[in-house]
Amino acid sequence: MLDAKTTDAIKGLIKTYYQNVQNIAPPNIEKLEFGFGTFENKIAYRHYAFKNEAALRKYLVDNAPPFVSVSSSEYQKPDGRPMEAKGLIGSWLVFDLDADDLSSLKCKLEHGKSWVCQKCLDGIREETVHLIEDFLIPDFGFDEKDMQINFSGNRGYHVHVYDKRVYGLSGDARKQIGDYITGKGIELTTFFPTLGMRGKRLEGPKPTDYGWGGKLANGIIRALNDGVSSLMDMGIDKKSAELLVRKRAEVILGITTGNWDMINIPKKAEFWSNVLKGISIEQSESIDKNVTGDISKILRLPDSIHGDTGLIAKRIPSLKALKSYDPMTDAIAFKEGKLKVHIDKAPKFRMNGEDLGPFENADKELPTYAAVYLILKKRARLA
Ligand SMILES: [Zn+2]
Repeated sequence: MLDAKTTDAIKGLIKTYYQNVQNIAPPNIEKLEFGFGTFENKIAYRHYAFKNEAALRKYLVDNAPPFVSVSSSEYQKPDGRPMEAKGLIGSWLVFDLDADDLSSLKCKLEHGKSWVCQKCLDGIREETVHLIEDFLIPDFGFDEKDMQINFSGNRGYHVHVYDKRVYGLSGDARKQIGDYITGKGIELTTFFPTLGMRGKRLEGPKPTDYGWGGKLANGIIRALNDGVSSLMDMGIDKKSAELLVRKRAEVILGITTGNWDMINIPKKAEFWSNVLKGISIEQSESIDKNVTGDISKILRLPDSIHGDTGLIAKRIPSLKALKSYDPMTDAIAFKEGKLKVHIDKAPKFRMNGEDLGPFENADKELPTYAAVYLILKKRARLA
């Protein structure tokens, strides 16, 4: 728990931030439920409502809350309680991607859950681009102009879809969207009708096929081009993988016409689960929680401060901007001045283009944003 002096200092910075931030009100603010948190509890209070931007800003400046969350649902009476009293009008779709859910990130074994490194941030950014470019746009037909992407403020990204076709979707329909992008319940035999049939040519999807079939064909072609180890990652044995790479041109030509006969799939279950892992969005837990059923969930308000980092849950102007987004530079809030801190222990990290640390039992004067980051990550305290 932060001491009173530290809490006051950081709340002072948050207050100044909210005095100066522009356009903090989300669309249709009067229909949204807000919640606020303390440094200890991300959502300590909820069921708040604001008529307009001025009212919201006054609350933010007066209270300097470390966390601000907002609903993706719109209500007739957003401050009504319990939930049923709010009068649900509709809900937008939100995808919450968190580096914590990326099991492919091996760096977590080194730095643990309480730290976020550049690899975590790069990995989750790529996964977010993958979600948008390979699922939301081609498979669901959402338009980039109807999407709002923002950094989560800590270790992930949020993609809000403001397409009016999603507004009235039932919980079950939302669950199906989640299942589709995480590859849940997709059967191999759907795409390989002759799999395991003796004397039958193995027929499979073509790269031009819509949806999962095309993704599967393109995934295999990509692995063929990447080489033996990529194929082995998919559960194909070394000898077969080497043969496939040698005959790559021929194999790829086959797949483009739906002829998969050259690819021998001995361990079907293993192969399939590996292929799925490579192609689906590896976020089943948080996507389940947020896209499906629970439309009463509230999520960080875009452009608000995140009380675990002091970074901004910043709106990102476009998909193109996302591709080169570096939150440790682009989402910095407290740019002014320096603070003296005692750092217990922190790995090397990079903020605002500057390498910092590693630190151990050190007294340092750091740029305010870096000092606050370490304090909120429980790695340092005010000196
Ligand atoms: Zn990491």
